Amino acid sequence: MNETPALLRSAANGSETSMPPSLWAAVAAPPAPAYDRLIGRRTTEVAVIGAGYTGLSTALHLAAAGIEAVLIDTHEPGWGASGRNGGQVLPGLRVAKSTLQRKFGTDFGNRVYGLAEGAAQFLYDLVDEHQIECDLMQGGSVRLAHTKSALEMLRENHAALVAEGVGARFLDAREVAELVGSRAYLGGRLDPRGGTLHPLKYARGLAAAALRRGASIYQRSPAIALAREGRGWRVTSMEGDIVARYVVIATNGYTDGLWPKLAATLLPVHSFQIATAPLDEAQRASILPERTCFSDTRRLILYGQRSGDHRLVLGGRASFTLVDRAADYDVLRRVLVGLFPQLAATPIEYRWVGRVALTPDFIPHLHTPAPGVMICVGFNGKGVAMTTLMGKVLADFIRMPGEPPAYPITEMRPIPLHPIRQPALHIAMQYHTLMDRIGR
Ligand SMILES: Cc1cc2nc3c(=O)[nH]c(=O)nc-3n(C[C@H](O)[C@H](O)[C@H](O)COP(=O)(O)OP(=O)(O)OC[C@H]3O[C@@H](n4cnc5c(N)ncnc54)[C@H](O)[C@@H]3O)c2cc1C
Repeated sequence: MNETPALLRSAANGSETSMPPSLWAAVAAPPAPAYDRLIGRRTTEVAVIGAGYTGLSTALHLAAAGIEAVLIDTHEPGWGASGRNGGQVLPGLRVAKSTLQRKFGTDFGNRVYGLAEGAAQFLYDLVDEHQIECDLMQGGSVRLAHTKSALEMLRENHAALVAEGVGARFLDAREVAELVGSRAYLGGRLDPRGGTLHPLKYARGLAAAALRRGASIYQRSPAIALAREGRGWRVTSMEGDIVARYVVIATNGYTDGLWPKLAATLLPVHSFQIATAPLDEAQRASILPERTCFSDTRRLILYGQRSGDHRLVLGGRASFTLVDRAADYDVLRRVLVGLFPQLAATPIEYRWVGRVALTPDFIPHLHTPAPGVMICVGFNGKGVAMTTLMGKVLADFIRMPGEPPAYPITEMRPIPLHPIRQPALHIAMQYHTLMDRIGR
């Protein structure tokens, strides 16, 4: 499959969309509003580059605070990971509280932890406030143990959550089989704060809310250069430019060479997804009957949800090559049947891929490399809720220039040997695959 946007005609309203094919683009996504291209000059307070959840939430929160924002994307809102992810709304970051405390100091570490743990509720409140129709379902999220040592790790994690007042539940293998419909796991930890949504509906809903509040959004308008202009910046696109006091770069896994060395701070990785045909009544009764979403403890994590139209959507099988190969989907299909033998004869109707941006410390990064420029990237495959929240953090940072942001600013650090990362990462992935296979 090729990521170059073929312009497709949306069956829903005849408008043009550049979204690559996926379940989310095909099924029930509301028509994309008709965005213009950026032609000529716009002068504004904030230019936002990248219309995924980070950029959209930033523009929405700026507009809601009465600050003019102009958002541009190379493709269209939701074209990146935001329109094609697994739709799991998860609180927290990939790292433990103790890691944040070590990195940022106890106080700031605790604040960042608290902020991230509240990210899912932040999203639910935003969806409610702006009446975003995105199949939101608060069915909880369950982490599943594939080995005994992983089960012990989840037991500790469960105890820590309970100590913090989260109504988490520890599940044995029988309870997991009832909740998930798979007998492949030894147990799990259920977090009632998790949920699911239709990712593209959510992206388009955020865009519509931002437009209603007065933000401007332009599609098919890549930022190709950034230069100082007076007290602010000029963002040059193909057919126009934006002159703005502030610039927010929110390009995550699709980061290009726009800001020097930014791409070298990130490891872009492909994550694959497949979706079955709609489940029949018997399958619905056994597979994710409460529409809880799941992920497991493998090094190369597997994750899934039951979509609003009752398909099993399974993701995983990361690839560092950034080439979309049929073999990766075949592996995923075999894994699916291994986990859910009751789906052996159920066809796979959709398969697609998207790009995740990893950081070496597995923490999202906020950089301010020049006055008036903010960069927020590196959600490590766990960004549906956190990007939404970071949009508010970025908008507040711009709104209150004298105040420190609620999230730590770090220096941009290019990853050593970044230009030759792919062969090394490929070997690392083979190693992780082997470790998963032998249960380590
Ligand atoms: C397959 C997959 C499954 C995932 N599943 C989950 C999940 O279940 N739960 C979860 O929490 N997270 C998940 N994630 C991660 C989550 O989707 C991301 O963290 C989040 O969507 C990132 O949003 P973003 O706005 O930062 O970036 P993106 O949504 O990737 O948007 C970046 C945008 O920048 C644009 N852009 C790039 N360069 C330029 C330029 N020069 N000029 C203009 N525009 C530009 C791109 O066109 C793109 O639209 C998943 C990711 C993938 C890929």
